[in-house]
Amino acid sequence: TGPIRSRSRPQASAGMAPKRSSSVKGGGEEDRVRVVVRIRPPVRKDEKFGEGSESLQYDKERNLLFLLAKEDDKEKSADPKQFVFDRVLWKDSQQADAWDAAGMPVVNAVMQGYTGCVMCYGQTGAGKSFTLANESAGQEGVMIRAFHHIFDTAAAERELKYEVSISYQQIYLDSITDLLNPGGTVEIREDPKSGVYVDGAKWMPATTVQDALKILGKGNSNRATASTKMNSASSRSHAALIVRITTTGGVRTLSGMLYLVDLAGSERIKKSGVEGAGLDEAKAINQSLTTLGRCIEVLASNKKEKPPFRESKLTRLLSNAIGGGAKTTLIICCAPTMTDQQETVGSLDFGQQAMNVVVRAKVNASTDYGSLTASLLSQRDMKQKPIREMEARV
Ligand code: ADP
Ligand code: MG
Repeated sequence: TGPIRSRSRPQASAGMAPKRSSSVKGGGEEDRVRVVVRIRPPVRKDEKFGEGSESLQYDKERNLLFLLAKEDDKEKSADPKQFVFDRVLWKDSQQADAWDAAGMPVVNAVMQGYTGCVMCYGQTGAGKSFTLANESAGQEGVMIRAFHHIFDTAAAERELKYEVSISYQQIYLDSITDLLNPGGTVEIREDPKSGVYVDGAKWMPATTVQDALKILGKGNSNRATASTKMNSASSRSHAALIVRITTTGGVRTLSGMLYLVDLAGSERIKKSGVEGAGLDEAKAINQSLTTLGRCIEVLASNKKEKPPFRESKLTRLLSNAIGGGAKTTLIICCAPTMTDQQETVGSLDFGQQAMNVVVRAKVNASTDYGSLTASLLSQRDMKQKPIREMEARV
């Protein structure tokens, strides 16, 4: 397969039906968290997938996602539970569809100076890593497509200069590891001006797609080794790839920050039946995801109450990305199988709630006043030169 072509820039909300219309207010443009649901196709491990084993149905015309009733309680539920999301990517959807629906609008916003976040939520095996981090040729996930899009856009741009650097963090058992420098120590801190950041994080500059892919590969291989050492699969840790994009045009600088987040599996402890060290893990994962859920709940309620960001490392790390100041798209990943229906409903409910989170994203812009003054002074001198020359002649 050839290189991935990034498609042209989309309309801000193509194909989506926002509850709140965008309007410019004092605190920035008002919007809300976008939620895309992706149902993966059946895979080999879904035993006996066939007639009667599907948990969902989708009415594309009306954009309605229905829960199908279980074989034994078909009579009871005459009214199937239904959901409406910004987009549903049904089982036959391609990686490019996920990119178009969830990735590209956010990456475009980041290239214009916003903070943006694409986050995958769902139970283990539902397709989070496939959607976000898959590396196989022709089936690349959002991360790799984002790199292509960023560097294609930068190459085609004449007026603006882009600088890209990448950091990659993992949260496991409520401790944070720098995947680009696993031996170092990192700590989540807060700056009154720029918000939460990872102190000590390694930021690696990238000027080409190849650079970025190398950095991603390095982080992914560290994620794998860190996991085996701690006797854990990647499904038990959260990973956040953070891409800083600085856009300079003249004396103005825009600082965009992109968070691509692959969350740990959202399944309940009971079902996975883990014990001992596995149980501690499951509890820590549940705790951070529960805190995430509570933050979303508070944000969605639109009350003055402060979300409990500080109660877990995950929510602290993501507070800039999910706290209502960023262009955020959540991808709810679901398995298609009846045996997973309870988990699927949990994920869909989480997504439905997140659609109520109001976002007032602002462009992070700064002006280099030193250069601006110098440039204005030189303009003034240029204008005054003929006058001075005339004066001299007189
Ligand atoms: P998660 O990260 O949520 O635990 P994975 O992304 O690892 O789940 O997906 C589980 C399995 O399903 C993998 O083998 C993956 O390749 C496959 N899979 C997931 N989504 C899709 C898809 N949309 N098309 C084809 N295979 C998929
Ligand atoms: Mg995964």
